[in-house]
Amino acid sequence: AAKADGRSCFRFYNEEMNARSVEQLKLEEDLREAMRQNQLELRYQPQVDARTGAVVSLEALVRWKHPRRGMISPGDFIPVAERTGQIIELGEWVMSEVARHCTYWDTLGLDHFRVCVNISPLQFNQPELTRTIRDFLDRSGLDPRRIELELTESAIMTDARANIEKLKELAALGLDLAVDDFGTGYSSLSYLKRFPITTLKIDQSFVADMSSADGVAIVDAIIVLAKTLNLRSIAEGIETQEQLRHLVQNKCDLLQGYYFARPLYPEDVPEALRRNYSSDITEALMDLT
Ligand code: C2E
Ligand code: MG
Ligand code: MG
Ligand code: MG
Repeated sequence: AAKADGRSCFRFYNEEMNARSVEQLKLEEDLREAMRQNQLELRYQPQVDARTGAVVSLEALVRWKHPRRGMISPGDFIPVAERTGQIIELGEWVMSEVARHCTYWDTLGLDHFRVCVNISPLQFNQPELTRTIRDFLDRSGLDPRRIELELTESAIMTDARANIEKLKELAALGLDLAVDDFGTGYSSLSYLKRFPITTLKIDQSFVADMSSADGVAIVDAIIVLAKTLNLRSIAEGIETQEQLRHLVQNKCDLLQGYYFARPLYPEDVPEALRRNYSSDITEALMDLT
């Protein structure tokens, strides 16, 4: 029976694999359509200053409204786009949308916030990334200081020595550079110090794990590391008052998560920028339990 089970398991696995690659192929084709037919949309998630409670920045997050399958999460299609190279075109689309939205918010007098744009490893490894970003800044007329690129820890730490020059080129454009999902890769501390980065973004898995002593210890260590290196720290994925309390009391600089706001439609951004969370912060500081 064990043998039969094993065989049926094997066959099942194979079929599943097959179904999966057919699925991927379809996704790849559909994504090509999606970019042509305006099925992609951006949402913006507020980031809150932990001292003032003001919304000081927004992270742009892409969404795919598939005509038959409904909303597809970037966790499902970004890896496909990354594998097929479609991420390059997608990344350029994201930048042009960010520029379009910022120009609109500007007309409402809203220009005192940063926008964070995710850059995937393949994009980061493109030799012409700096030129692409420079073109984006030139064409949009955006003040580079208003843009932060989120680069993943594994992208910049793979071949770290060679990446110093690239990061310096990007930093020379005047924009900020964040290390996204920090703590999940293998950072060399000596490179971290030499990289012209501005921000460490604590991975949400650590924030989610803050109910355990180990989770708290990791979060605290990253905050201290950021302070030591003169970098901004930001925690993502904050959902509970408990997490907020600990992060605020331990002086994490910026806060992002469903606790404050979900990723928002661009039209809801003006209202979100007027919000202030100082009472949540004050409460978190007083709560010494
Ligand atoms: P990320 O850059 O680490 O983004 C954070 C993810 O956490 C987002 O998922 C966000 O919606 C989600 N999130 C925010 N607050 C909370 C919270 O309180 N609880 C929980 N459980 N989740 C929260 P999303 O939008 O599904 O994006 C997933 C990933 O896809 C991103 O991770 C990023 O790596 C990638 N991605 C999204 N948009 C883009 C893009 O425009 N370009 C590229 N290259 N990658 C993107
Ligand atoms: Mg990010
Ligand atoms: Mg992240
Ligand atoms: Mg993440």
